Amino acid sequence: MATCPSCSHTGLKHTLISETLPVHMCPNCEGLLVSLVAYRRWRETSHPSQEPDQPPTNVSVDDSKDAIACGKCRALMTKYRISADSPNRIDYCASCEDIWLDEGEWNLVEALAGSDHLNTILTQPWQRKIVNESLEKMKRERLKTLLGSDYEKVVELNDWLAGHNSRDVILTYLRRKSH
Ligand SMILES: [Zn+2]
Ligand SMILES: [Zn+2]
Repeated sequence: MATCPSCSHTGLKHTLISETLPVHMCPNCEGLLVSLVAYRRWRETSHPSQEPDQPPTNVSVDDSKDAIACGKCRALMTKYRISADSPNRIDYCASCEDIWLDEGEWNLVEALAGSDHLNTILTQPWQRKIVNESLEKMKRERLKTLLGSDYEKVVELNDWLAGHNSRDVILTYLRRKSH
Protein backbone atom coordinates (compact mmCIF):
# COMPACT_ATOMS: atom_id res chain seq x y z
CA MET A 1 0.00 0.00 0.00
CA ALA A 2 1.45 3.33 -1.08
CA THR A 3 1.93 6.11 1.42
CA CYS A 4 1.09 9.72 0.64
CA PRO A 5 4.28 11.47 -0.57
CA SER A 6 3.00 14.77 0.72
CA CYS A 7 1.66 14.10 4.23
CA SER A 8 2.91 10.52 4.78
CA HIS A 9 -0.60 9.28 5.49
CA THR A 10 -0.88 5.56 4.78
CA GLY A 11 -3.89 4.11 3.05
CA LEU A 12 -4.45 6.00 -0.16
CA LYS A 13 -7.95 5.37 -1.42
CA HIS A 14 -8.72 4.08 -4.90
CA THR A 15 -11.11 6.45 -6.66
CA LEU A 16 -12.12 7.82 -10.07
CA ILE A 17 -11.62 11.40 -11.21
CA SER A 18 -13.05 13.08 -14.29
CA GLU A 19 -15.54 10.19 -14.23
CA THR A 20 -13.30 7.42 -15.54
CA LEU A 21 -9.65 7.96 -14.60
CA PRO A 22 -8.57 5.60 -11.80
CA VAL A 23 -6.27 7.26 -9.25
CA HIS A 24 -5.30 6.97 -5.60
CA MET A 25 -6.41 9.80 -3.38
CA CYS A 26 -5.02 10.69 0.02
CA PRO A 27 -8.01 11.04 2.36
CA ASN A 28 -5.95 13.31 4.58
CA CYS A 29 -4.54 16.00 2.22
CA GLU A 30 -6.69 15.17 -0.83
CA GLY A 31 -3.67 14.92 -3.11
CA LEU A 32 -3.80 12.50 -6.02
CA LEU A 33 -1.42 9.79 -7.12
CA VAL A 34 -1.87 9.28 -10.85
CA SER A 35 -0.22 6.47 -12.77
CA LEU A 36 1.06 7.78 -16.08
CA VAL A 37 0.24 4.43 -17.66
CA ALA A 38 -3.38 4.63 -16.50
CA TYR A 39 -3.50 8.26 -17.50
CA ARG A 40 -2.31 7.54 -21.06
CA ARG A 41 -4.86 4.74 -21.41
CA TRP A 42 -7.54 7.07 -20.10
CA ARG A 43 -6.55 9.78 -22.59
CA GLU A 44 -6.78 7.35 -25.47
CA THR A 45 -10.23 6.15 -24.54
CA SER A 46 -11.81 9.33 -23.21
CA HIS A 47 -12.76 12.35 -25.29
CA PRO A 48 -9.80 14.73 -25.35
CA SER A 49 -11.93 17.53 -26.78
CA GLN A 50 -14.05 17.78 -23.67
CA GLU A 51 -13.63 20.99 -21.77
CA PRO A 52 -12.44 20.89 -18.16
CA ASP A 53 -15.22 21.21 -15.59
CA GLN A 54 -14.17 24.56 -14.24
CA PRO A 55 -11.48 26.49 -16.09
CA PRO A 56 -9.58 27.99 -13.18
CA THR A 57 -7.76 31.10 -14.31
CA ASN A 58 -5.56 32.72 -11.69
CA VAL A 59 -6.48 30.12 -9.15
CA SER A 60 -3.83 29.64 -6.57
CA VAL A 61 -3.56 26.13 -5.32
CA ASP A 62 -1.24 25.15 -2.51
CA ASP A 63 1.80 23.36 -3.77
CA SER A 64 4.29 21.27 -1.83
CA LYS A 65 7.47 23.34 -2.12
CA ASP A 66 9.96 20.81 -0.84
CA ALA A 67 11.20 17.79 -2.70
CA ILE A 68 9.05 14.79 -1.80
CA ALA A 69 9.77 11.09 -1.91
CA CYS A 70 7.76 8.65 -4.00
CA GLY A 71 5.26 6.78 -1.83
CA LYS A 72 6.19 3.47 -3.45
CA CYS A 73 9.96 3.41 -4.03
CA ARG A 74 11.01 6.31 -1.75
CA ALA A 75 13.09 7.93 -4.53
CA LEU A 76 12.91 11.71 -4.68
CA MET A 77 10.34 12.84 -7.19
CA THR A 78 11.19 15.36 -9.92
CA LYS A 79 9.23 18.59 -10.02
CA TYR A 80 7.74 19.83 -13.27
CA ARG A 81 6.12 23.22 -13.69
CA ILE A 82 2.59 23.17 -15.03
CA SER A 83 2.75 26.50 -16.87
CA ALA A 84 4.43 29.90 -16.82
CA ASP A 85 1.34 31.44 -15.24
CA SER A 86 1.19 29.05 -12.35
CA PRO A 87 3.80 28.51 -9.65
CA ASN A 88 2.46 24.99 -9.12
CA ARG A 89 4.62 22.03 -9.92
CA ILE A 90 3.71 18.40 -10.23
CA ASP A 91 5.96 15.69 -8.83
CA TYR A 92 6.95 12.75 -10.96
CA CYS A 93 8.67 9.46 -10.14
CA ALA A 94 10.25 8.20 -13.35
CA SER A 95 10.81 4.66 -12.11
CA CYS A 96 7.23 4.09 -10.94
CA GLU A 97 5.79 6.38 -13.63
CA ASP A 98 3.63 7.93 -10.95
CA ILE A 99 2.60 11.55 -10.74
CA TRP A 100 1.72 13.29 -7.52
CA LEU A 101 -0.78 16.14 -7.68
CA ASP A 102 -1.50 18.28 -4.66
CA GLU A 103 -5.13 19.07 -3.97
CA GLY A 104 -6.60 21.12 -6.83
CA GLU A 105 -3.66 20.60 -9.17
CA TRP A 106 -5.57 18.17 -11.34
CA ASN A 107 -7.90 20.98 -12.41
CA LEU A 108 -4.91 23.24 -13.03
CA VAL A 109 -3.23 20.62 -15.19
CA GLU A 110 -6.33 19.99 -17.24
CA ALA A 111 -7.12 23.66 -17.71
CA LEU A 112 -3.67 25.14 -18.20
CA ALA A 113 -2.01 22.48 -20.29
CA GLY A 114 -4.95 22.35 -22.68
CA SER A 115 -6.05 19.13 -24.24
CA ASP A 116 -2.65 17.55 -24.01
CA HIS A 117 -2.10 17.39 -20.53
CA LEU A 118 0.24 15.50 -18.25
CA ASN A 119 2.37 13.90 -20.95
CA THR A 120 3.17 17.33 -22.37
CA ILE A 121 4.18 18.74 -19.01
CA LEU A 122 6.78 16.02 -18.61
CA THR A 123 8.58 16.94 -21.85
CA GLN A 124 11.69 19.10 -22.27
CA PRO A 125 10.18 21.44 -24.90
CA TRP A 126 7.26 22.25 -22.60
CA GLN A 127 9.54 22.91 -19.63
CA ARG A 128 11.81 25.07 -21.82
CA LYS A 129 8.81 27.00 -23.07
CA ILE A 130 7.79 27.68 -19.47
CA VAL A 131 11.28 28.95 -18.61
CA ASN A 132 11.21 31.30 -21.60
CA GLU A 133 7.73 32.54 -20.74
CA SER A 134 8.78 33.10 -17.13
CA LEU A 135 11.80 35.14 -18.28
CA GLU A 136 9.58 37.24 -20.55
CA LYS A 137 7.21 37.78 -17.66
CA MET A 138 10.08 38.88 -15.40
CA LYS A 139 11.29 41.33 -18.04
CA ARG A 140 7.78 42.76 -18.36
CA GLU A 141 7.49 43.12 -14.58
CA ARG A 142 10.84 44.93 -14.43
CA LEU A 143 9.80 47.25 -17.24
CA LYS A 144 6.55 47.97 -15.41
CA THR A 145 8.47 48.90 -12.27
CA LEU A 146 10.80 51.16 -14.24
CA LEU A 147 8.14 52.89 -16.28
CA GLY A 148 5.25 53.01 -13.87
CA SER A 149 2.12 54.45 -15.46
CA ASP A 150 3.91 54.94 -18.80
CA TYR A 151 4.23 51.17 -19.23
CA GLU A 152 0.95 50.74 -21.15
CA LYS A 153 1.88 53.61 -23.46
CA VAL A 154 5.26 52.05 -24.25
CA VAL A 155 3.68 48.65 -24.97
CA GLU A 156 1.18 50.30 -27.28
CA LEU A 157 3.98 52.20 -29.05
CA ASN A 158 5.97 48.99 -29.38
CA ASP A 159 3.04 47.12 -30.94
CA TRP A 160 2.38 49.98 -33.31
CA LEU A 161 6.05 50.14 -34.32
CA ALA A 162 6.33 46.39 -34.81
CA GLY A 163 3.92 46.42 -37.73
CA HIS A 164 5.03 49.73 -39.20
CA ASN A 165 6.62 49.91 -42.66
CA SER A 166 8.92 52.75 -41.62
CA ARG A 167 9.87 51.25 -38.28
CA ASP A 168 13.62 51.82 -38.73
CA VAL A 169 13.14 55.41 -39.87
CA ILE A 170 11.00 56.16 -36.82
CA LEU A 171 13.45 54.48 -34.43
CA THR A 172 16.38 56.42 -35.91
CA TYR A 173 14.39 59.60 -35.54
CA LEU A 174 13.54 58.85 -31.92
CA ARG A 175 17.14 58.01 -31.09
CA ARG A 176 18.70 61.15 -32.56
CA LYS A 177 20.61 63.17 -30.02
CA SER A 178 19.90 66.77 -31.00
CA HIS A 179 16.47 68.12 -31.84
ZN1 LIG B 1 -1.65 13.17 2.04
ZN1 LIG C 1 8.68 5.59 -7.25
